[in-house]
Amino acid sequence: MKLERSRQIFERARQVIAGGVSSNVRASDRPFPLCYARGKGSKLLDVDGNEYLDFVMGRGPLILGHSHPALIKAVQETMVDAQLFAAQTEMECEVAETIKKHIPSMEMVRFANSGSEAVHAALRLARFATHRPKIVKFEGHYHGWLDNILFAAPEKARADQSSSDPSRPGNGAAGTADLLIVPWNNLPALEAAFNAHGPEIAAVIMEPVMCNSGCVLPQDGYLEGVRKLCSSKGALLIFDEVITGFRMGLTGAQGRYGVVPDLTVLGKALAGGFILSSFGGKRELMNLIAELKVVHAGTFNGNPISLSAAITSLRILEERKDEFPLLNEMGDQLRLSLVKLANQFSLPCASDGFGMIFCFYLTTAVVSDPMECVKHRDAEATSLFQERMLNQGIRIAPEGTWFLSFAHDQKDVELALNAAKNVLAEIAASRVNSLQRS
Ligand code: PMP
Repeated sequence: MKLERSRQIFERARQVIAGGVSSNVRASDRPFPLCYARGKGSKLLDVDGNEYLDFVMGRGPLILGHSHPALIKAVQETMVDAQLFAAQTEMECEVAETIKKHIPSMEMVRFANSGSEAVHAALRLARFATHRPKIVKFEGHYHGWLDNILFAAPEKARADQSSSDPSRPGNGAAGTADLLIVPWNNLPALEAAFNAHGPEIAAVIMEPVMCNSGCVLPQDGYLEGVRKLCSSKGALLIFDEVITGFRMGLTGAQGRYGVVPDLTVLGKALAGGFILSSFGGKRELMNLIAELKVVHAGTFNGNPISLSAAITSLRILEERKDEFPLLNEMGDQLRLSLVKLANQFSLPCASDGFGMIFCFYLTTAVVSDPMECVKHRDAEATSLFQERMLNQGIRIAPEGTWFLSFAHDQKDVELALNAAKNVLAEIAASRVNSLQRS
């Protein structure tokens, strides 16, 4: 595969952009971070003219695929008259009302741009509302890269093993000193944290489905148990639905599992790939912002372009809501077929997820406990799998998280499986060869 133009641009970028990338997460793409020119539906074209079937999908936001025509049209029409007012538009009301219709716990919202800043606002609000300092965060969950929460984050968010350590220069110790890190899917561990620090805990924040360290579903009764504990101890429950929001159906994970948080954070798929995040929850909490007691601000908040994309994307998702289960079935079929192939080639692997978002990665051992799997990820083999898949025209994220969209179809699944068959056979053969040599 010819990657000359991409290589030249990457070399140029490295002279003026730290690491040649604008997010650390992109630095681990192999053979090196490519440069892309065009995206349409489930396909991507790089600057050398290579076409890829994309299972990264902007790392989640592109629920309708790349450049959905209706979304692009809406944005183009909006842009002519409304670029940025740093003021209100009626579109804000429409998006807020649509969010509330599907996620009733978000009685009132605010808009922001990235998931990281919306999480930041939610944590500030929780601390102010409860007059308590501490936040419970779970191992392996990711809530953005800001100081107050970047701790015990998944591997992909770190430059090296210790970069999220609060004692490291550059990371403010003050923010993370108030974090309590607890294992997830483990109610006794959370109970112990409450027993030790209960009156100081402002909030428990979690990804209701852990999508950033593998893709692990909550155990039966776990979310309910956390909800109960939070309520009985006077702590707020924050669901970070930046990934699951408008992906796990229109109602998010909270609708799927029937557990109601006090605050919710949305991002990624909210505007179908345009820049928009939101946080919100109980009216009495959000009133603290309405009364200007808690600061939340931002020049680009509620920009008209992203709002028009959100209106259109959410309308299309509403029209296609019956297709969510089909998309999840397609994802499950792809995931289980990948596992079958890995088994055929005797390559240990792990997989989990909820259909349209799943993880599949190679491991150093067969591990049945989903919370333990990620500790046995064979990072080198999983990266090699990503690189070889790219070579076969399939783009996946290096840590093994796959995102499907409404633009993917059965033919795409077949293409991905054919490529995976070749690549896994190659990896298995090279292992046998190296064993024979040693
Ligand atoms: N929360 C979760 C669950 C995420 O997955 C992410 C990003 N991957 C964030 C927050 C941060 O969002 P952003 O990258 O938009 O700042």
